[in-house]
Order: sequence, then structure tokens, then C-alpha cells
Amino acid sequence: MSASPFDILFEPVQIGPVTAKNRFYQVPHCTGSGALRPRIQAHMREVKAEGGWGVVNTEYCSVHPSSDDLPYVSATLWDDRDIKAHAEMTEKVHAHGALAGVELMLGGARMANLDTREVPLSAGNLPNLAGNPFQSRAMDLSDIRDARRWHRDAALRAKTAGFDLVYVYATHGYLLSQFLSKTTNHRGDAYGGALENRVRLLREIIEDTKDAVGDTMAVAVRFSAETNGGGGADGAPIPGETEDMFGLLAELPDLWDINIEDYSYEMGLSRFTPEAALEPYVAGIKSLTSKPVVSVGRFTSPDTMASQVRRGVLDLIGAARPSIADPFLPNKIREGRLEDIRECIGCNICYTGDGKGVPIRCTQNPTMSEEWRRGWHPERMNAKRSDDTVLIVGAGPTGLEAAHALGKRGYNVMLAEATRVLGGRVTQEARLPGLTQWARVRDYRLQQIDKLPNVEVFRESALTAEQVFEIAPDHVAIATGATWRRDGYGANALAGIAGLGPAAPIFTPDDIMAGRLPEGRVVVYDDDHYYMGTVVAELLRLKGCAVTLMTPEDLVSTWGAYTYDRWRAQARLLELGVQLSVARSLRSFDGARVVSGCTYTGRETEVAADDLVLVTARQPKDALYRQILEYPLHTSDGPLKSVAKIGDCDAPAIIAAAVFAGHRYARALEADVDRDAPLRHDRVYS
Ligand code: ADP
Ligand code: SF4
Repeated sequence: MSASPFDILFEPVQIGPVTAKNRFYQVPHCTGSGALRPRIQAHMREVKAEGGWGVVNTEYCSVHPSSDDLPYVSATLWDDRDIKAHAEMTEKVHAHGALAGVELMLGGARMANLDTREVPLSAGNLPNLAGNPFQSRAMDLSDIRDARRWHRDAALRAKTAGFDLVYVYATHGYLLSQFLSKTTNHRGDAYGGALENRVRLLREIIEDTKDAVGDTMAVAVRFSAETNGGGGADGAPIPGETEDMFGLLAELPDLWDINIEDYSYEMGLSRFTPEAALEPYVAGIKSLTSKPVVSVGRFTSPDTMASQVRRGVLDLIGAARPSIADPFLPNKIREGRLEDIRECIGCNICYTGDGKGVPIRCTQNPTMSEEWRRGWHPERMNAKRSDDTVLIVGAGPTGLEAAHALGKRGYNVMLAEATRVLGGRVTQEARLPGLTQWARVRDYRLQQIDKLPNVEVFRESALTAEQVFEIAPDHVAIATGATWRRDGYGANALAGIAGLGPAAPIFTPDDIMAGRLPEGRVVVYDDDHYYMGTVVAELLRLKGCAVTLMTPEDLVSTWGAYTYDRWRAQARLLELGVQLSVARSLRSFDGARVVSGCTYTGRETEVAADDLVLVTARQPKDALYRQILEYPLHTSDGPLKSVAKIGDCDAPAIIAAAVFAGHRYARALEADVDRDAPLRHDRVYS
């Protein structure tokens, strides 16, 4: 085989006593499953190992009940009964020749211990760093001895569970970073004050871990390359004592996993953060240590990955999201199938599982967390059951995924799209500021469909019920999407908004995406609470409008907190000079004034406005579906064996739900899926 520019990514890497078969390294990432859903977790990690990742890690793993982060779900190694669940994962990961790692975690003042009701332990009597009214106890020397013992015991259990690599977790604001940082460590003893003292606990825990398991297991340290408290502009680290700290520890562990504390940049949305964004922080680390270095950067481009290694920035290509969007990314690169890579779009829907305490999901990869529960594999479909034909109407994310997945099953598929342009909402939304990567949802599926001779795409084919019966497929799925509502109906206006005059100039995101823009003074009313309101406000401000973003919630983009949209979006709007108006319910608009009521007192105020943009709720476009059901030829012995509506035209939701709906339809067609059977439930009895 001829040499490939990506061969360098497939070189083995020695990590202490173990060897990773290649440079593809799935860093620890939350799954919303952890200790609560061990089988979902184990099977999901197995698929990554099968897809070629050389190292596959767990999420953060609590070593003791005093590090209980619920409702954020972590793994646990509190006692020997936790070993079995982990052993299931390591066995599965090993079956594919990958190394398995576990990220041990002492949480300190980030833990409220809401489940276990233990007192949080930290460097001082710190306020809870996750916003709970529970302060931590300042650890005395016996607490420190306990913490070291818990960590050591957990490392020994990790060894019994079959892990090859164990983490000492010293960033992201957890206990060890609380000791490292001047901001949180005000101790006057041997663990506070001078740099050597603040580093002491981390050093001791690295040494304990090496001593306990270092003969056979690699010891990794996750460490922040950012100076205490950050403070620099994005991508512009401020030099400081981090380097000195690093200097004190550089040769101690077997691997450095380098990060920054600011999650909103480290796992930044594509809306705000480019690929390889951490390079300015990480670039100098390799010159300070002889140990291998891994870091992340939402790496989806093999060229970028190879360049990181070639230029000596990284030894291992760390990935959470790219491995979620495409567990088979390494194998696809190795086999030269770059066009088959399902690229992460940087939407952070995967992160919502953590905040909501539910299994991780992914916009691009509908099989994520469904490997065990539904038996879905990201690369393999169940074979077709007949030679039946399927017509999919609508080529948005739902229709594209359904057509692609059915095509892979072997069915003959016709995909009809009303417009010339394919992609539906993702094509539309990708035109909005920061959302260009949404188009990857379309592009991946079109690339795949292109390879499937059994899938035919018909553009400019707005079908009627009559035409559907003329085509007479065996099965038809309607995926015609949804439109944004113009009447104000939304979560905070379930009876609509009476005072929207019929002549008042009202716009919706559909108008904006179609290029019909308001001018002058605009109120964007956001009763959707995810990205659309802030993105539309940003666009209109950039076009020169005077914009007020109004919402009935107390905060801007409340649901965006789960994806990390919220803070960055609010900061951007403030920087652009958008006025924010929170806790206001829209009452009326007459073309000159928007009247709103305080959501607490009802007190009304007015804002002068020429135009109003309503970002509230969406209306399913299900007319075609209903017409088919009512069509005279639609009888039990008529030509259509089944009619379904799927995705946004069934129930408008996030893009991930649309892709999931299309995939689920494709899996289930003629597959005897029992809708009444309960979903396989990861019940755990120890
Ligand atoms: P989803 O998110 O569920 O995929 P979208 O709104 O993104 O929904 O996509 C729906 C697609 O269906 C759009 O591209 C739209 O042009 C197309 N469409 C709507 N009605 C028809 C129809 N009668 N025939 C063919 N395509 C249609
Ligand atoms: Fe990437 Fe979005 Fe999937 Fe997360 S959910 S892996 S950000 S595509």
C-alpha cells in the first residue's frame, strides 16, 4: 500500500507501561449514563474501540461519595461493587485492541453532594462552585490523608476492572485545581501559599497512583494550560505560573492531557470557536516534558490532525465530539474513506445529556447511546425485509437520514424534495451567523446517498397526494418539516397573543432565512429559548438594525445553557449593542410600539419598534400527510402499505430529533418493532 499523509496518525505511542496502537485518543467525556446506565455506556465505548480509537476513556469517575455530582451523572469507583460495570467496558474495549482509561475524580467545592448528603471537601470553606448553597469544609490533614487513600483505592479497583490507564484529574475547577489555584487556595499550611505547596496534593496523588498501579497502568494527568482564572482573550493565553507548576511536575506522569478551564472555549461551539482552538495554549507544552501530550480541538479534518503531530504540538489526537459524531473516524481515515466521515457540527447537543442527566445523543450520529438499548450500530443497518419501494417526501435532515439509512438497508428509495436545494432547515439555518457547519448534516448524507444506486433524488418535486398515489410506492414517509409560527403561540403564550394587529409587520425566522429582513428598530421576541432567537438578533444587528431581544424567561437563551450557547450568545449580543429585555411577556404590537408585561408583576411597558420578529414555536407542515390519509385511494387494499409522518412535520424539535426520527423510521420499516414493548432499560442491581 502506498504511503498516506495520514500514516503518522497510525503510529503506536508508548504511554508509560502500555502502548496505544495509534494516535487516536478518545478523551474522557460525559455520557449522561455513567454509573446509572453502565450497559449503555459500555456498549457505546465499545463501538468507538471498534471504530479504531486507540484509547477509549470513561467520563469523570467519582472515587468517593463526597464527590457526588448528581444530577450530572458520573461513573463511580466507590467500592468493589462498582468494578463489575467497568469490567464490562474494559473487556469490550480490549476486544478491539484499544486501551481503556478511567478518569478518577475528586470534586471538591464543585460538588454539592445532593444525593449522598456528604459534606463537600476542599482547600477551604469555599462557596459551591456550581451555584448550590452548600459550602465546602476546609480539608484538614486527616481529610487530605483520606482523599489520598480514596483515590489510591479507586486506582486499585480500576486495575482490577482491567483499565490500562488511570487519570489524575487536575483541571476544570475540581478539587486538585482548587488546591493549585491562588484564587481558591488560601491555606497557611504545607498545602497552601507558595507554588510548591499548592502543587503538593497533586504531586502526592500522582505519586500514590504510580506507586499503587504504575507498574502496569499508565498514569495520565489532566491539567490546565491556562493561567489561573484564565482572563486572556480567546486563543491568547496569558503567561503565568502554570508553566512553573508544570515545570515542577513535568516528568511525573506518563501522559499529559492538556486542557483549559473555560469549557465554553475548550468545548466551544462552532458558532463561536474554530477547529484546533486550543493550539495557542498547548503549543509550548511538549517542549517542557518528554512525556506524550494529548489535547482536543474538535478535530474533524485529518489534515489538521496530521499537522498537529507533524508540527510537534501533540502526540495523540484527543477527541470527544468527533468520536461521538463518528465513532469510526479513525478506521475511515485509515481506509482512505475521508468522504464517509460524519463530521461533528459543533452544536454541543451531546453535552445536553450531561446537564439533563440522560444518555448522550448527537445531531450527526443518531445511534449514539442506542448501541445496547436499541441494538443500533453507527455503520451497519439491518438488511431489508422485502423488495418494497419507499417514497420519502422532503429532503431536510429527517428525509435525508431516512433515505440514506433505508438505502443502506437495501431498499429502493425515492426522495422527493419541493425545492431545488436539498437539506431543508439545515441548509436554511446554515446561512445564519456562526451556523455554517450545520450544513454538514446535509453534506454527509448527500455524500452517502450519492454512493447508493438504489436511492433516487428528485428535486423541484413538490408532491401532492394525487402524485403520491400515481407514484404508488409500497411505503411513504412524509418529512415535510415545519414553519415558524406568526401568531405568537409559544410556551409562554399557549392561548396565543391577542394584541398582534393583522397589519403589524411581523417576521419569523423563516422570513429572515429567506432573506426577507426587517429594518430600523426591531424587537426579537424569543419564546423558544435555544439558539434561534439570539442568532436572529445577532444577524439583524449586524445588518444595522437597532435590536431588542425580549424574552419571558429571566435569562437569555435558557435552554442554551445545556449546550453552552447561552453565555457566549449573551456576551456577543451585549458586545454588538443589542438591548436585552428579560422577564417580559409580549402583549401587543401595532407597528409602532411593542407592549410587554413583566412576568412577575404584570406591569406593562412599551418599546418603540418598527418591526417584530417572533421566535416562539413551529407549526408542523403535515397537510400532505393528512391529504394522503383522506385520499379516496387510501384504503386497506390500496397501493400504499404504510404511510408515516416523521421529524419536524410530526413534532417540531431540535435537528438531532429530526435525524433520529428519520433513522428510527428506516430501522423500523418492516422490522417488527413492537411499539408497546418497553425500551430496554439499563436496570442495575449490585
Ligand atoms: P425536517 O427537519 O423534519 O427534515 P425540514 O423543514 O428541514 O424538516 O425539511 C422539510 C423539507 O420538505 C423541506 O426541504 C421542504 O422543501 C420539503 N417539502 C415540504 N413540502 C413538500 C412536498 N409537498 N413535497 C416535497 N417536499 C416538500
Ligand atoms: Fe458534534 Fe453536535 Fe454531535 Fe456533539 S452533538 S458530537 S457537537 S455533532
